Amino acid sequence: MKQVKTIQEMRAARSGLSAPGFVPTMGFLHEGHLSLIRRARAECGSVVVSIFVNPTQFGVNEDLSRYPRDAAHDLALLADVEADVVFMPTAEEIYPQGFATSIDVGPVAEPLEGAVRPGHFSGVATVVTKLLNIVQPERAYFGQKDAQQCAVIRRVVADLNIPVEVVIGDTVRNPDGLALSSRNSYLTDEERRRATALSRALARARQMVEGGERQASVLKDAMRDILSSEEGFSVDYISVADPVALNEVERVGAEVLISMAVRVGTVRLIDNALIRVS
Ligand code: AMP
Repeated sequence: MKQVKTIQEMRAARSGLSAPGFVPTMGFLHEGHLSLIRRARAECGSVVVSIFVNPTQFGVNEDLSRYPRDAAHDLALLADVEADVVFMPTAEEIYPQGFATSIDVGPVAEPLEGAVRPGHFSGVATVVTKLLNIVQPERAYFGQKDAQQCAVIRRVVADLNIPVEVVIGDTVRNPDGLALSSRNSYLTDEERRRATALSRALARARQMVEGGERQASVLKDAMRDILSSEEGFSVDYISVADPVALNEVERVGAEVLISMAVRVGTVRLIDNALIRVS
């Protein structure tokens, strides 16, 4: 496994790779990241993983400085899953003096996370575009866990004609349902136990849709009941939306994205379910 830090080194490493799959991450790797890397391993000729905690996607009051990091552990995990190249640039490498361009993704970046985290998706879209230009993979892998990020990246790749196939991997969960996230490390044991309410609320909504419920407001009420029965929860949003444009819907159609963001103490968690109605 080759470790590279500069764009020049990354480009040199790229020239020796066949049909690379690429998994961009912010590190502190867990089974969610590893599932994407294993899938890339199975589907591509080679695998590139980036670890970069991108400052431009964090708001001023967000957790950039305390975002968890453990490079040694990450590298051990990456060797284990047989990544070919790990790209770990510095912020100065990605954003040198004079850097000024940013990508405005339009309406898909505005609701939900975009409404609570202004500028977040511009930061994501810009860094992902830069990484795709640097690595030039055949396929790039992202997790359904960050559903709006997936919609944003699909939009950018289509609109800017970036020659890459976007692949979305399923959300990996703990056995109790909690979606894996680097930010789970901020939770106390008690909060960690309560946080299972997110996946319980989604499971309830899925069950209701499968039972024939189509009214978004009824689904949202049922989810809110489950979330509000937990102490110390503050719901940022519960959304029932079309999964491509992310417009809220009143009635569930053929495919629907149910998503939520909840503050559990000081920790902000997101989760979602993509439901196809047969
Ligand atoms: P991050 O390091 O949080 O930026 O995540 C890097 C990639 O891993 C993103 O495409 C995420 O959507 C994906 N990811 C994060 N958590 C999970 C999870 N629990 N299951 C699947 N993919 C995930």
